[in-house]
Amino acid sequence: MTATPWLPAHVETVTPLTAHARSLVLDVPGWTGSLPGQHLDIRLTAEDGYRAERSYSIASFGPGERVELAVDEVEDGEVSPYLVEEVRPGDFLEVKGPLGQYFVWREDDPSPVQLIAGGSGIVPLLSIARARAAAGTAQPFRLLYSVRSAPDALYADEIEELRARGIPTEWIHTRLAPPGSPRAAGRVSLAELERLTIPPSERPLIYICGPTAFVESTADAVVAAGHPPLRVRTERFGGA
Ligand SMILES: Cc1cc2nc3c(=O)[nH]c(=O)nc-3n(C[C@H](O)[C@H](O)[C@H](O)COP(=O)(O)OP(=O)(O)OC[C@H]3O[C@@H](n4cnc5c(N)ncnc54)[C@H](O)[C@@H]3O)c2cc1C
Repeated sequence: MTATPWLPAHVETVTPLTAHARSLVLDVPGWTGSLPGQHLDIRLTAEDGYRAERSYSIASFGPGERVELAVDEVEDGEVSPYLVEEVRPGDFLEVKGPLGQYFVWREDDPSPVQLIAGGSGIVPLLSIARARAAAGTAQPFRLLYSVRSAPDALYADEIEELRARGIPTEWIHTRLAPPGSPRAAGRVSLAELERLTIPPSERPLIYICGPTAFVESTADAVVAAGHPPLRVRTERFGGA
């Protein structure tokens, strides 16, 4: 089997998403396209030869050589501050991928889909939601998006557009609820999860993505609510 090669990636555009996150659109000659939900690896090489590699989910999907990523800065991190604050259009990075065959959505799967995101965990789920909207399929989709406060949400405007196109969204604000919000700030409870997501009787596929602690507690909660573990797919971004 041939190993996936590192490919040079030309940074086309950078767009702020929040005060601490931005999207990067890369032009990657030789890129084979990606399935909704896949990720890639980025490799940075310093002048003295020191190298760092990290994984980033792909917000775009489908064929073509343009790849969209969204990076949320981890304050004391090594790679994300560089990607969020330093990288400019015209710069080159190296990428390897697409990677991952498990945390993907396939258009021919008729199952209802429940997406559950914490923070930057929205990225692969947005790719899945975009693919569902583009496919025009009719199966029920829902998104539950947990963020610290409204200004921390990535792609909020696009998510509202997707809501209008048939992907109802529930917002959970963990630290600061927006003015007039019917829900006080706080982590999602088991009772809320049960009320706000597709029930086990409809046998949805559930995709959960975000920081490790968020993914583990949410996956435990949906299984406790009666969803079979094999219908629950998780992707952990690291961190608390
Ligand atoms: C499959 C996969 C897909 C990913 N996709 C994305 C993506 O689309 N967008 C994105 O922004 N990140 C994504 N990540 C996380 C990303 O790979 C890095 O871990 C993240 O950018 C931090 O890297 P860093 O070098 O800045 O921090 P590091 O130097 O690696 O870590 C510094 C400190 O921050 C903590 N930390 C590491 N990661 C996180 C985190 N995510 N949240 C909170 N604390 C953390 C560490 O425990 C450590 O204490 C993904 C991770 C995986 C495994």
